[in-house]
Amino acid sequence: MKIIMLGAPGAGKGTQAKQIAGKYSIPHISTGDIFRANIKNGTELGKKAKEYMDQGLLVPDELTCDLVVDRIGQDDCKNGFVLDGFPRTIPQAEALTNALNELGQKMDYAIDVDVPDENIVKRMSGRRACLECGATYHVVSIPPKKEGICDACGSELVLRDDDKPETVQKRLDVYHEQTQPLIDYYKKAGILKSVDGTQPMEDVFAEIVKILG
Ligand code: ADP
Ligand code: ADP
Ligand code: ZN
Repeated sequence: MKIIMLGAPGAGKGTQAKQIAGKYSIPHISTGDIFRANIKNGTELGKKAKEYMDQGLLVPDELTCDLVVDRIGQDDCKNGFVLDGFPRTIPQAEALTNALNELGQKMDYAIDVDVPDENIVKRMSGRRACLECGATYHVVSIPPKKEGICDACGSELVLRDDDKPETVQKRLDVYHEQTQPLIDYYKKAGILKSVDGTQPMEDVFAEIVKILG
């Protein structure tokens, strides 16, 4: 099963993608996590990506597409994968469609996690991330067992640099301009499904499971 998660920054794509990956035993591929890991390790890609991420801008397609195409060609992706945070532009979507075409494959579902902008800023200011293992929490709605500490690996949780309110507004603008057109792209491709992302996490997941079967 090959799945794309669509939705605004903070809509809950990552939260749901992790659950999908667990239930259907497929890899969770998050371009944001890949970039953050590169930043943490001080790679060339990380240095370049950080300049854009800190401003709330998208990392250029040239730095993003090949990385994902390589990743989905790896062995563990044979039975499918869930893409979280990619594609984010029409050229990225076209690169993905073309790469899969060459393998005689196509995406099965694009799931749009729908959350209005009003709810997003609140979610982002409460988001706490583990940069060690990629786990994500929320101080109110999805708190870790011990404040400030990752349940999964015991590392310290942080407020991401790009989750500060000034940057969140910029990311929302970028989302509406560059990423939202993908909803139409996948509607035309006949694989778009929408879920109400304002519900509690478990209820959003139940809706998704109904779609995926
Ligand atoms: P969120 O889950 O809050 O939407 P991500 O972790 O997906 O955030 O992405 C964080 C940042 O990483 C983005 O604001 C952008 O700068 C960069 N990024 C992630 N994925 C992509 C992509 N597919 N194309 C371009 N930039 C990306
Ligand atoms: P995205 O990957 O789309 O940027 P995340 O999955 O990181 O979004 O979720 C953004 C924030 O909202 C996190 O703090 C997360 O714990 C929280 N969150 C996710 N799903 C829900 C939900 N259904 N209700 C309330 N908060 C949620
Ligand atoms: Zn962790």
